[in-house]
Amino acid sequence: MQKTFSPSSLGCFEKCPKQYWFRYIAKVPVASEGIEAFVGKRVHEVLERLYLFVEDGLVPSIEKVVYRYHQLFDETYDERRIRIVRDDTDAGFYRQNGVRSLENYYRRFYPFDGDTTLGLEKKINFDLDEEGQYAVRGIIDRVVRAPDGVLEIHDFKTGRRVPRQEELDNDRQLGLYELGIRKLWNESGPIRLVWQYVLSNQVRTSERTADQREALRHKTTLVIDRIRNETEWKTRKSALCGWCEYRDHCPLFGGAEKQARLEAGHGPEKPTAPSPAAVPDDTRTTPPVREGSDGQLRLL
Ligand code: SF4
Repeated sequence: MQKTFSPSSLGCFEKCPKQYWFRYIAKVPVASEGIEAFVGKRVHEVLERLYLFVEDGLVPSIEKVVYRYHQLFDETYDERRIRIVRDDTDAGFYRQNGVRSLENYYRRFYPFDGDTTLGLEKKINFDLDEEGQYAVRGIIDRVVRAPDGVLEIHDFKTGRRVPRQEELDNDRQLGLYELGIRKLWNESGPIRLVWQYVLSNQVRTSERTADQREALRHKTTLVIDRIRNETEWKTRKSALCGWCEYRDHCPLFGGAEKQARLEAGHGPEKPTAPSPAAVPDDTRTTPPVREGSDGQLRLL
């Protein structure tokens, strides 16, 4: 059983306990990756590199930034491994989304001197409680000191959808990152949560009160308790299944035999595709699905 939980693992359990079981309990190797996640990672890598250059006083041109993105894309793209779920799209479409995301971000923030970077790809690991029973980990894209002195936690989002403000005000991922930064950095001043929706070129922010932070902390411990007490690991069919990397193993999609092997302790079968990706954990991009008011996941 997992000892430390990330926003991704908590979200995975809530969306489909069976997927959680495959990913975090049976640890079935992943032989493929969705194109959305693939492009999201390349964009994150390029933005991280951009800020490393900026820290050294060197602002690369937009052409260099885009060139580096194409280079990374070409070096890592393997059509046997990358899954494209939507019928009406191809790799070129997603490649261009990455270019547009970088161009949007670059033009909005050039020359990147409007704030101060305090951390890039900052790994955090902290306990939600004093006893150390509820450990949380994560990776923050960028920690920033804003011109008004406020500490900001930035997250780059490469998906198309921009959530409503109400959703962002209840977002768990950045809320947990705030709890982590407050604890690890002993930060007691205001903290602003900032989402950079780079593809649609929009920025959203949220700030939490002490009561909201406490509610988030408590709610998260309850989810962790549910995971720890889970025994059934039921499937939950939804639009997410199209993007699920464990579909071949899932009993809902004819994978009952493979699952039986895993449950009997025979271990995961060797992945059939080359270059298996590591088990995705702090996945920065999610499939284009959202939860409806009836709790069902739907395609965007
Ligand atoms: S295919 Fe669907 S139901 Fe099966 S594990 Fe994946 S998300 Fe869950």
